[in-house]
Amino acid sequence: MRVAPFALAALMLAAAWPASAKLPCAAKDRACLLKAAMKSPVRTLDFWAKRLADPVAERIGPAPQELVDYLEIDNAVNGFPEKPRVAKLSPEFLADARGALADLLPVLRKVAGPTFAGVYFVEDLGGTGFTDAVREKPGAAPKAAYIVLDAKVLEHHRANGWATWKENTPFKPGGGWTLEAKIEEPAEDTRRSAIRYILLHEFGHVVAATRTLHPMWDLSPRDLPAGAKWPFFDLSWTSDRQKNTYASKFDASFALRKSVVYYLGAKLDAKQMTPAYKALDATNYPTLYGATSFGDDFAESFASYVHTQVLKRPWSIRILKDGQPDYTYRTCWDDPRCVEKRDILEALLK
Ligand SMILES: [Zn+2]
Repeated sequence: MRVAPFALAALMLAAAWPASAKLPCAAKDRACLLKAAMKSPVRTLDFWAKRLADPVAERIGPAPQELVDYLEIDNAVNGFPEKPRVAKLSPEFLADARGALADLLPVLRKVAGPTFAGVYFVEDLGGTGFTDAVREKPGAAPKAAYIVLDAKVLEHHRANGWATWKENTPFKPGGGWTLEAKIEEPAEDTRRSAIRYILLHEFGHVVAATRTLHPMWDLSPRDLPAGAKWPFFDLSWTSDRQKNTYASKFDASFALRKSVVYYLGAKLDAKQMTPAYKALDATNYPTLYGATSFGDDFAESFASYVHTQVLKRPWSIRILKDGQPDYTYRTCWDDPRCVEKRDILEALLK
């Protein structure tokens, strides 16, 4: 879901940060906010060293106050009105979250054991999940990454209800068109399964943060190192240093892609559900959300691959018109269109 999208400033000083600061700038002073964000201790490896020394299964719990302060600044920078708070977790919720993490431990230890700084819960995050990278020094390559989830959003959701809600967000409802996402069989359609699936997507960002599969999400195209190769990115995306833009390789065949916006207000009409998914079926993006940015392309590919191919769970999008099935979209892992992405994921998970 969200990743911290700051463009990196050239020079940043690591400075002490009060343990429970109020927003340190005027809410509209973007330059001041960016500077404050860059100084946050949560961007440094030192802050996470203790957590990284814990067993992987224990790196979970309420967010530390410094992280909540950082998220408040990030929200102000990105125009989210929410003011995050440390989550108060019920024992039942914490048991589900720990269970979801436990379900993923075999995969997680393989791909991100030493670089996973943990999963932390807040309330009023603005979105369901957030991932950011941690560096030894500003400008250095990331050494670890952590995940933030909104406990209040997850509290009342089961897996299929959450997935159906999310996958409807790009479309304005109406005209008798509906869309149903199925990511679990009825017996497994639980809150724990919803958290597991959401964690898998965020783990995708954690995995990518310390590898060169795609450029770091906080790097502007003009700052990409010359001659760098990004094996996953190169399958679906291009960059233009002069114009300072990233683009999809499928924009000619999938013109609706640019109108696919999740969470922040639908741009597509419900009657465009089937055309959008038919066009998606001719790309190498495994999911519609994966077509929105290269970072989410990898996170969605990782989540979709592990969920369906490793954990052997169902995944489908069913589009209905007046209650009658119109089109069903499934994952691409058995199709030639995704074979190169499949090879990269298989190599990672070996
Ligand atoms: Zn994401």
